Amino acid sequence: MLKFCSLYSGSSGNSFFVQSDDTNILVDAGVSGKKIVDGLASIGISIQNISAILVTHEHSDHTKSVATLSKKYNIPVYANKKTWNAMKDKKEKISENNIFYFHNNQSFELANLTIFPFEIPHDAADPCGFNICDANSKICIATDIGHITPSILENLKHSNFILLESNYEPDVLKCSSYPYKLKERIISPLGHLSNIEAGKTINYLSDFGVKNIMLGHLSNENNFPELAYKSVLEQVESQDLNLKIASRYCPSEFFEVDKENNTIIC
Ligand SMILES: [Zn+2]
Ligand SMILES: [Zn+2]
Repeated sequence: MLKFCSLYSGSSGNSFFVQSDDTNILVDAGVSGKKIVDGLASIGISIQNISAILVTHEHSDHTKSVATLSKKYNIPVYANKKTWNAMKDKKEKISENNIFYFHNNQSFELANLTIFPFEIPHDAADPCGFNICDANSKICIATDIGHITPSILENLKHSNFILLESNYEPDVLKCSSYPYKLKERIISPLGHLSNIEAGKTINYLSDFGVKNIMLGHLSNENNFPELAYKSVLEQVESQDLNLKIASRYCPSEFFEVDKENNTIIC
């Protein structure tokens, strides 16, 4: 049985917690170590019980406290080679015993979990999303997506739960005070996913058994939760959708992802 909690998610920092019957992992550690320790404690988990931190890419909103947590609590960190090379400053602070490598598009095992890192288009060294599976369920974490590719869709299909980026509302971004260059970066094919694109993706996936989604990595300036919710739902035909929004400020519910495709709040 898999359980999931979004500790924090947004352009200001991301960290997700996944629990299986015999292991506890974090995906990204993009806020302070203290916030992660406190967030875990709020759902009854001790940082001492974290078996691994998986890293999607080197941007600081995903890696801020990776080195601090690894060093202080002796936690193994998994990333691909180009990502490790792009965060040399962090790598230098992590004990060699805790540095682990994976390859995008090659699965690996962590206790009873099978992890499949899949590549995503984003302006980082070698960014990825993760499919995390036990014998019964599949959770997918996919943020920082410049544009949706056929292979991303393949990886998201038949997930029991997806944390999907819904970064910005195009009309709000257009009018925002962001410098032109930054706006260009966000909307580029290597930038971030809009509410509209997230909605279209969810609409497509609803034909492939996907019912449980949490929207994450919302921009602080160019989006807000109610707008993301409304904008995404406008793109979705299915009535059978359980849509949640991850908060940038506090942990989400800590819930079970069960094999019948229903999420149950613990
Ligand atoms: Zn990024
Ligand atoms: Zn990010």
